[in-house]
Amino acid sequence: MQNLIDLLKSGENQLMRRILAYARRFDYAKYTSTLEEAWRMSIAGLTDSIEKSWNFYGRVPEFGPDDDFRSDPAAYFGILEAQRHRERGVSLCMFLSFFKYYRQTYMDHVREAGFEQEYMEEALRFLMCVFDRMEIAYCDEWSGKSCNEMLLELQAANRYMTNEKNAYLTVFESVSSPIILLDAEGGIVNLNYQAAVLVDSAIKPGQNYYSTNGMRQFAAMHSDASGDDAMAQINRFTGSRLNEHFGWLSNSLEFSGVNGDNSLIYEAEYPAPNGEKRCFEVQISRMLDVSEKFAGTLIILNDITERRNMLEDLKFLATVDPLTGAYNRRHFFDLARRELLRAQRYGRRLSLIEADLDHFKEINDTYGHHVGDEVLKLFVKTVADMLRTSDTLGRLGGEEFAVILPETPQEAAFETAERIRRRVAELSYTSEKGEVRFSVSIGVAGIEACEGCVEDSVEELLKRADFALYDAKKSGRNSVKVFS
Ligand code: GH3
Ligand code: MG
Ligand code: MG
Repeated sequence: MQNLIDLLKSGENQLMRRILAYARRFDYAKYTSTLEEAWRMSIAGLTDSIEKSWNFYGRVPEFGPDDDFRSDPAAYFGILEAQRHRERGVSLCMFLSFFKYYRQTYMDHVREAGFEQEYMEEALRFLMCVFDRMEIAYCDEWSGKSCNEMLLELQAANRYMTNEKNAYLTVFESVSSPIILLDAEGGIVNLNYQAAVLVDSAIKPGQNYYSTNGMRQFAAMHSDASGDDAMAQINRFTGSRLNEHFGWLSNSLEFSGVNGDNSLIYEAEYPAPNGEKRCFEVQISRMLDVSEKFAGTLIILNDITERRNMLEDLKFLATVDPLTGAYNRRHFFDLARRELLRAQRYGRRLSLIEADLDHFKEINDTYGHHVGDEVLKLFVKTVADMLRTSDTLGRLGGEEFAVILPETPQEAAFETAERIRRRVAELSYTSEKGEVRFSVSIGVAGIEACEGCVEDSVEELLKRADFALYDAKKSGRNSVKVFS
């Protein structure tokens, strides 16, 4: 019979799948374990009992009137399982009837193994007898228990389970991230304290659970049915739709793709009642329930408000010149390259303006560096207000600035530069040492971009604008020159 034992030991996964299929098909799954490991243990335990029986008997273990079934090598696991199920409130009939499907599972597996007819029949007969011996053993043990013993056993198990439930309830309520459990239809089954306060800030930890607990017990006592429906009422959110309380998570509702090992992560903004915006990373995963009775999804919310704000600040700091608010040199080049690519793709014209404040060193020397700073700010604000939203202004360094003007021919860019020059010449900044007047020199360069014109580059455009700027400086400053 070694072939049979080897077959069973190597077929753990198939046996597990078969028994699970029977449990789901005949509705036992509603009372069974949810995690795969529990099923693996039950199959491993049964296979072990079968192997022990073979090692002990070495033949089909026929029955005899004086057999001591409780000390049978096959009995230990069966009796233990029967006791565990009894403690959980499973009746003998329920246990016995589901056990028939365990036997069926093993028989199906042997029938499909491809053994020779004679060997297969012997193996099936062996299995039948071992399963029967297990049944007789736990029926004997079960019926030998007095009512009082059973009550004590049930009470002890109930105390243990209540404590265990309280431990998990406490963990659930203490988790610092909001957690929501949804059923397969997207209805709320349960949520923890942190999730409930997002809906009702006055709620207390456990309030959800205990406020409905009395109701549950009342309903369970007065229900003609087993009270299971009443037990399903876990808290006041149970049964409501997710979007009744969490409209801002509506994406989760539409989410139906949590199959297999899938999970989904996205970000959502929670509009807090105090007007503050909080940002959550929403993590949706499928429940790990092989019995499929809790075939819902689990939503865990991680508060990433601080992280997101920090990232936004960092992004801002990495792209913007802190003194003037113009884009910094690196980011300006990035944006300018993007504009050039776009111009090349659509064959459009593009211009660049380079501006340098005149005799700026003198302003610093005369009025102080802080006044120089204010002048730079005033210059940027003035220019920014004169540009189109599609234009990009950057500070190349010191008192040098550049503007990239998409879809702008050189002549139009010259007009813009002229307007800037005139406007700047009219500006004045009032310092403690008097009125500060200043001017700017500007160089303009434009290109007609075309796809594949590799010689066009932002660097080249800037070089041309720089030539023009040099011209403007040479011609006495406060002037605009075009590259030619
Ligand atoms: P030109 O007309 O030839 O451009 O003369 P200029 O004095 O403007 O040119 P130069 O390059 O000699 O001087 C630029 C000055 O700008 C020198 C530097 O101290 C000053 N500067 C650069 N960055 C800042 C800044 O952030 N704030 C202030 N206040 N001054 C700055
Ligand atoms: Mg300069
Ligand atoms: Mg200068």
